[in-house]
Amino acid sequence: FTLVDPLVGQGKGVKFADVAGLKEAKLEVMEFVDYLKRPEHYKSLGAKVPKGALLLGPPGCGKTLLAKAVATEANVPFLSMNGSEFIEMIGGLGAARVRDLFKEAKKRTPCIIYIDEIDAIGRKRSGEISGATGATGESEQTLNQLLVEMDGMATVENIIVLASTNRADVLDKALLRPGRFDRHILIDLPDLEERKQIFEQHLKGIALELAPSNYSKNLAFLTPGFSGADIANICNEAALHAARVKKTKVTKSDLEYAVERVVGGTEKRSHAMT
Ligand code: ATP
Repeated sequence: FTLVDPLVGQGKGVKFADVAGLKEAKLEVMEFVDYLKRPEHYKSLGAKVPKGALLLGPPGCGKTLLAKAVATEANVPFLSMNGSEFIEMIGGLGAARVRDLFKEAKKRTPCIIYIDEIDAIGRKRSGEISGATGATGESEQTLNQLLVEMDGMATVENIIVLASTNRADVLDKALLRPGRFDRHILIDLPDLEERKQIFEQHLKGIALELAPSNYSKNLAFLTPGFSGADIANICNEAALHAARVKKTKVTKSDLEYAVERVVGGTEKRSHAMT
């Protein structure tokens, strides 16, 4: 797993302000920030804060970004791992890794654990999926260990486990029970206004001919169905294009070129998936 610890000066520093749009999701995770900052207040009122939340939604829409922002805003360490790292593991290694992750987290409370692509380890256990193979035994052990760790957290306070997936339908029901990932936060594709905001966010870092607001609305109109990651990609492609043709400023034509290019890429991707 990877660790970003603001307390030892490694903080990546993604703030809420860096996450464009996602107003409701931000409000929901704000509660975790507040809890991490003043747990004693919640305890004195007898309130039980959820141990974890699932961030649900299509790829590239800001799940990881939002989870990191929670850690930055609460000024706590961010320990993350990707569920897909566990796919090839054998001999109980997956379960051991989960144990290590929680062990490390307990040393660093208050903190955030983030499990990206949790569906890779949290799939419905054998019997529930057709065509299960020998590999299931291993991933079952990994999933069981995760459940054990989350249940064990009752006594260890101030760890919030956030996990992301775009396949909530394949998750084992045990993961969704109260006391585990019983909160679900939807991080969907951005709408028109959100795309505009994401463009403005990413155009800020680019040497544009005019201010970002001159381009963002039009770009948002041109990009229905695009994710935040696609938008970040467009902004970068535009800057790369301007650099290639030796311009000193990025202009409308570079942005239009980049939209075309990224549309081409997303089309290829969706063909490959069908
Ligand atoms: P995955 O499921 O593929 O892990 P994700 O939802 O976790 O995707 P992120 O890693 O958070 O996606 O987003 C990828 C990149 O896209 C970010 O680093 C950022 O540059 C950009 N991005 C996505 N959503 C937003 C947003 N709401 N505001 C600003 N930038 C965004």
